[in-house]
Amino acid sequence: MENKCIYGKEIAERLDQRTIEFVEECRNKGRRIPKLVCIAIGNHPASVAYMKGLRKKCEKVKVELETVVLDASISDFELIRTIHGYNKMISIDGILLQMPLPSHMNREKIVLEIDPLKDVDGLHPLNTGLFYQGQEAFVPCTALSAMEFIHESGMNLDGKEVVVVGRSNVIGRPVAQLCLNEHASVTVVHSKSLNIEKICSHADVVIAAAGVPKMIKKNWLKKGAVVIDVGINYDENGKMCGDVDFDDVIDQVGKISPVPKGVGVVTNSMLMRNLIFAYQRKG
Ligand code: NAP
Repeated sequence: MENKCIYGKEIAERLDQRTIEFVEECRNKGRRIPKLVCIAIGNHPASVAYMKGLRKKCEKVKVELETVVLDASISDFELIRTIHGYNKMISIDGILLQMPLPSHMNREKIVLEIDPLKDVDGLHPLNTGLFYQGQEAFVPCTALSAMEFIHESGMNLDGKEVVVVGRSNVIGRPVAQLCLNEHASVTVVHSKSLNIEKICSHADVVIAAAGVPKMIKKNWLKKGAVVIDVGINYDENGKMCGDVDFDDVIDQVGKISPVPKGVGVVTNSMLMRNLIFAYQRKG
């Protein structure tokens, strides 16, 4: 079973090492150190936990981090004013706006205010447009992380059938595009799709990003399929699980990314890579 699992730790380690080397080079050459600002609205426990993990990652790779926690009742106008402030700061390379925003806020309007050159999470429509046109752009970190797992599995996507379960702007759609860029034939299914099981059963690679605990079962999968589980959910016992029923599918799959210890471990390392990309683009 163990050798079927693709763990995030090694992938994250590799990405982190490159970031560390880049930051070291900046330091040795007397250059500025890359800096990220993370803006959170409200003190939600999930948000606090995320900030803690992010701080740990930044300390490890030695990039600078500024965290800003704004009151949950803040207006769109005040948040936009904060974002504009960081857009102007030369010392800031990347702006990460924690999602989801409180329900009174207009996400689409606010995201438009992030400087596209500092949009390290690839949320701004300009980055989305450039990305889908095959041009240089920031791409959402989780989608990029999922691709690292496919590469790690040894699967060459050229001509392969990929099914992506989920069509969100942060995971499903960008990961489908990334697979298309690598010449796979891609099908995207969602909550209104019919016969998902049958569609998945033809796939060489299944990328699960629906947010439905243990939805994908053994009989959905072709023998030897590569399965990338992006879902982060909790089962009836409060235990973290993915969108794939790991115990049920393990005999059927060729490779699988487990939850926990899979894609989630890599996302912040990928964010650091995007931050370095932002720094380099500034010149
Ligand atoms: P989202 O915005 O809620 O999108 C979920 C997508 O799945 C939607 O397109 C939805 O279809 C589809 N879907 C829902 N139920 C389905 C079903 N029964 N069958 C087929 N498709 C279904 O979620 P997200 O932000 O993309 O996140 C997806 C999962 O990834 C969540 O578990 C989240 O916690 C996890 N996640 C992981 C990481 C990481 O670092 N590993 C990062 C972010 C998120 P419709 O479009 O028709 O509604």
